[in-house]
Amino acid sequence: MPVSRLGLRSRLFISHLLVTAVGILSLVVIGKVSSPRFFVVHLEQLESRGFSLRFARTELVQGFETAWYRGMGWSLLIGTSSAGVLSYWVSKRVMQRLAQMEQITQKFAVGQLDARLPASDIPEFNRLSHSFNSMAASLEGVERRRRELVSDLSHELRTPLTVMRGYLEELSSGEFEPTPEIYQRLVRETKRLERLVNDLQELSKAEAGYLPIDLQPINLRPLLESLVEKFADQLLEEGPTLRLECPPQLPLVRADLDRTEQVLVNLIGNAIRYTPEGAIVVRVWTETNKLWIAVIDTGIGITSEDLPHVFERFFRADRSRTRNSGGTGIGLAISQRLIELQGGQIEVESQLGQGSTFRFFLPVVRENY
Ligand code: ADP
Repeated sequence: MPVSRLGLRSRLFISHLLVTAVGILSLVVIGKVSSPRFFVVHLEQLESRGFSLRFARTELVQGFETAWYRGMGWSLLIGTSSAGVLSYWVSKRVMQRLAQMEQITQKFAVGQLDARLPASDIPEFNRLSHSFNSMAASLEGVERRRRELVSDLSHELRTPLTVMRGYLEELSSGEFEPTPEIYQRLVRETKRLERLVNDLQELSKAEAGYLPIDLQPINLRPLLESLVEKFADQLLEEGPTLRLECPPQLPLVRADLDRTEQVLVNLIGNAIRYTPEGAIVVRVWTETNKLWIAVIDTGIGITSEDLPHVFERFFRADRSRTRNSGGTGIGLAISQRLIELQGGQIEVESQLGQGSTFRFFLPVVRENY
């Protein structure tokens, strides 16, 4: 049978035996060639020191050779058998680990995504297990998020579609008079669907990194001023107040003006939506190489259980209420991606009933004083 047809275990075993055979052969050959010479040299040294070995010399050399052969015979026997046993044990151990790894990776391949490799006492295998396990964990996460997305999406689409179908069925059966209010309701639901689809498209582009981001050195002050003015004009008498706290001179930041505006519109829009009365402040300050912008409100706040989830897509603290207010729960997920694509970071702090602070930074290019 050609060697390549043999199993890895036999090949490992044979290779160990070959190494042992080469070692033993060199030992025997070198020993055979060199030891009698060294022995003769030793005898000559003894003679030169005054020992008379004339009659015993042949006897001594023969005795040495017999002892050498015996010793070598025993060494060969014990050495070869212990090397054989040891190499069999090592090959078996390596093969057991490999077979176990193969089994687990096959389980993973057929969809058992929680399959993980156990730790091994062989460091190289341990490293391999570690890399496999981290790859498996990230694939499991991707698959979980994909399932969640599909299920969230069906849920989000079902609500407006059910409402629309209900109205249309009742209109067609003549149960409802076709009043302008009903048509307005239908238009509202259609708009919701439209916004959902647009938001999703934007989010999927942002998550895949396909959103064109045009990074330029910009001064954000004019944008902040015009946005705050625009939103403040729309606020009602009894609603919250909105003001900007910004140093007169701002350093230039490397950012995309439109994308930053999109984030600010989302944050200020949310602050207004979730702040029935009180104050909303847009505060700007600089820190080493960072320009921070915070939207601080004194609104309803977010519970500590909900807080870690606000940047997840489709997350809404109070699903039914915010659905009626038109929220899709995608705005903050998009904002987070947009800020990250511009090299910044977005954070939130909130206290239920006290208000929320959403802040993000953008990298400063150079001072603009
Ligand atoms: P939505 O379109 O639903 O507002 P977002 O992603 O912008 O989607 O926000 C996600 C959720 O986070 C909101 O539904 C709301 O529950 C919560 N949230 C966001 N901003 C605030 C805020 N300023 N105050 C209180 N809750 C907020």
